[in-house]
Amino acid sequence: MTDLFNYRRRASSEVHVGDTPMGADHPIRVQSMATVSTNDTEASVEQAIRIIEAGGEYVRFTTQGTREADNMRNISALLREKGYTTPLVADVHFNARVAEVAAQWCEKVRINPGNYVDPGRTFKHMEYTDEEYAQELQKIEARLLPLLSLCREHHTALRIGVNHGSLSDRIMSRYGDTPAGIVESCMEFLRICKREQFGDVVISIKASNTVVMVHSVRLLVAEMEREGMCYPLHLGVTEAGEGEDGRIKSAVGIGALLADGIGDTVRVSLSEAPENEIPVARHLVDYITQRADHTVIPAQAAPEFDYLHPERRSTAAVGLVGGSQVPVVIVSGQGNEVFDNDQRPDFIYTGNQQPKVSDGQQYIVDFSIYDGAPNTYPIFPHAAMPLIGSVAAPIKFLVLEYGVCPDDYLACLKVHPEVVVVCVSRHANRLGEQRALVHEMMRAGVTNPVVMCQAYNHSIQEKGDLQIEAAADMGALMIDGLTDGLWLMNNGNISLADLASTAFGILQAARLRTTKTEYISCPGCGRTLYDLQATIARIKAATSHLKGLKIGIMGCIVNGPGEMADADYGYVGAGPGRISLYRRKECVERNIPESEAVEKLLQLIKTDQG
Ligand code: SF4
Repeated sequence: MTDLFNYRRRASSEVHVGDTPMGADHPIRVQSMATVSTNDTEASVEQAIRIIEAGGEYVRFTTQGTREADNMRNISALLREKGYTTPLVADVHFNARVAEVAAQWCEKVRINPGNYVDPGRTFKHMEYTDEEYAQELQKIEARLLPLLSLCREHHTALRIGVNHGSLSDRIMSRYGDTPAGIVESCMEFLRICKREQFGDVVISIKASNTVVMVHSVRLLVAEMEREGMCYPLHLGVTEAGEGEDGRIKSAVGIGALLADGIGDTVRVSLSEAPENEIPVARHLVDYITQRADHTVIPAQAAPEFDYLHPERRSTAAVGLVGGSQVPVVIVSGQGNEVFDNDQRPDFIYTGNQQPKVSDGQQYIVDFSIYDGAPNTYPIFPHAAMPLIGSVAAPIKFLVLEYGVCPDDYLACLKVHPEVVVVCVSRHANRLGEQRALVHEMMRAGVTNPVVMCQAYNHSIQEKGDLQIEAAADMGALMIDGLTDGLWLMNNGNISLADLASTAFGILQAARLRTTKTEYISCPGCGRTLYDLQATIARIKAATSHLKGLKIGIMGCIVNGPGEMADADYGYVGAGPGRISLYRRKECVERNIPESEAVEKLLQLIKTDQG
């Protein structure tokens, strides 16, 4: 059972992966995946070394055929010859035979239940009788048992790696495109491993949608507990993209789970050089795990809260905060700062200075200088709570920290529906305290909206660290449905525009508020069929003004069409020098030359947008 308020790593079994075991009491491992051709031994070894030197503890390679799987022998031999013992992982799709070859040369093999035996997803509706369904399960068992024997013989670990985008038609027919379907796809394979007493198994459930990913992993952990399993978990958000957006999206999804003690190895998938993924993963893991052994937060969960199926907490709207409105963004400044289009915060806090007013902007000031000016609202520290009733304002903000006189503040909130709570924490586990405050409010039946205030101390050189930390701190709060806003503070020289953009990025990563174009781009691997980074840059340059549009940019068709299934448009490698374009799930241009493809995609979007 997950403790919502106190950080504790989930108990998992130990899995042997070469000389770097995972799970149990081992550190949370970080890893990455090569992007060069697995048939190119020299390039593979060079890239693996870059990943290892950056701190990667496992290196994965795509093995699309037996030729690539067989070449893992040479890659492994050359790396070992150069003195590197880091375990290597083979990534297998569609071909069970490939997994059997790779199991002989790699320390771990990843198979995808969505296509290990079942053919890839066709998006066609299919019906299975109970008998047909049972026969398919027998087929899976027959195909998996030889692999388990080989893994046992060669001391190779297995990753059962489910991707939201590549669920089989069989699973889709019974469960649909749901977290329950994702979990069942995984459990079918795990039940066989358990029956066979094969323990070196790791599981991953990935999706490009952070909400689906977190819900599914939470469900899987509960389902495993129910069936007496404690296999370790590999965490990742697929197709997170690149740059700041990719880092924020990964930190929201992975951070939400790590903060609940879930996760034994992490891969942050970025559409960049693979070694760039390692410092992001490392920072995320270290940031969360440093809260271990914190002072206990004695809190009780609200009975109506459902961790496995969380819904947004029901709050009464106060102005533009709460109710069914999108969460607001607040930053602290002077009031006349310049922000990008669509990245203007809803409120700027100017402290004990009257704001330098800018058109249409709303402000928050200390209650002591509040004079009733339009578009300006007072904020009260906890100590000034008794004065709330003496100030007339349509919206009032009240700063609260968990554990301070709950009876007093709950009584105040009950008679002051115009108050928005600003929830702060200085605890080592701020997630635990911020959750605890909202649960306390829920238990008391108080419906005032809550803005989460997250404060950091970072210089401009550490902007990436702030983004990772803030996204991780907000991940579970957003997925739990506990937040009506985000107030991002920093004591350092990061600009307000950057803070606002980070706050909007975090809300968008949890699909709570859309202010930018969303790019669902794969990290690339040995299957990538074109220059991914240059193509992403060209498409971004031409489409970044199209707020709310989701564009998938995928290196190949293996996971491409499935993973970008909720994208509005897709650009997918179809073959060497060939691209297919998608409008939602429908392929509208097939195998067009790469040189024309970006232009054709832009034309397609332009025509549709009218
Ligand atoms: S979509 Fe294709 S190219 Fe991109 S990471 Fe997945 S398998 Fe590799």
